[in-house]
Amino acid sequence: MVKWSSGRVSGRRRANDKRRKPAAEGRRSEVKRPKVIVARPMGFCFGVQRAIGLAKSGKKQFGRISTLGELVHNPLVLRELEQAGIKSVRSARQVRDGALVIRAHGCPPETLDECGKLGIALVDATCPYVRKVQNVARRLKEQGYAVVVVGERNHPEVKSILGYCEGRGRVYSPKMRLKGGKIGVVAQTTMSRERLREAVASLSRFRYNELRVFDTICEEVAARQQAAARIAQQVDLVVVVGGRNSANSSRLAEIARNAGRRVVFVERASEVPRSIVERAGRVGIVAGSSTPSRVVCEIVEIVRNPAKEDRLNVS
Ligand code: SF4
Repeated sequence: MVKWSSGRVSGRRRANDKRRKPAAEGRRSEVKRPKVIVARPMGFCFGVQRAIGLAKSGKKQFGRISTLGELVHNPLVLRELEQAGIKSVRSARQVRDGALVIRAHGCPPETLDECGKLGIALVDATCPYVRKVQNVARRLKEQGYAVVVVGERNHPEVKSILGYCEGRGRVYSPKMRLKGGKIGVVAQTTMSRERLREAVASLSRFRYNELRVFDTICEEVAARQQAAARIAQQVDLVVVVGGRNSANSSRLAEIARNAGRRVVFVERASEVPRSIVERAGRVGIVAGSSTPSRVVCEIVEIVRNPAKEDRLNVS
């Protein structure tokens, strides 16, 4: 018998579907303007907002501050942080002075130990929801479970969770084989619920004494995924706004594609393909949790008013 733990995901506000006024009568050349539905929530999630705030206040406190890896997976935000003097380093050994920010994805405990040995001051911006997954994984390991993480093998969050399993954690793969005993399953916070269900169904085929499943998908992420799935049913084209290396933005694109919708993935307003947007009668706009709301608003303007995009492209 599979035991599911936690997993409540509440729906969020309805997508914003503002109706446009009809074009004025008597115009000679009428510009076709698609209807636009903007997914909610949008803008930074709580964890990203918090991490950026902690990095900025750490800069004031310590004078010099670096982030261990990219603070967020969005190049526009990273550029703004660099302009504010907050750059990323690949390892703790690169820190010469000042403090080091642990990003929202967290890091393995060995990294924290290494920082302690090197005497580096830490600003821990690990998102509390990621911390929760780390703690669940650690407890499962302590209670003798083999821990299976449903997530992306090379994603920093997954690496951080595996660090808390102390050698008893593995990343789920459809080809994996388990010998039985007690199995505990957790999910990367940005996983889709569908993928978690598929993984659990696959793991259920093995002989085991107990299979415990912890739905550790972030509610914010789940709400965005639900909105993307809902909006994909109502539009001809979905514009996903987010960093190309952003896991949660990629998941939104995947959900819209799985719904049979055409998807364009953009990082910034200037990338919106005018000709494709113009041909669509209804356009949905969804954004990842590390996408600034300012960028989403710029894209909404361009989709609603293609002439404005012309000006942007010219400059
Ligand atoms: S998406 Fe969720 S888990 Fe990830 S940083 Fe944001 S609030 Fe935290």
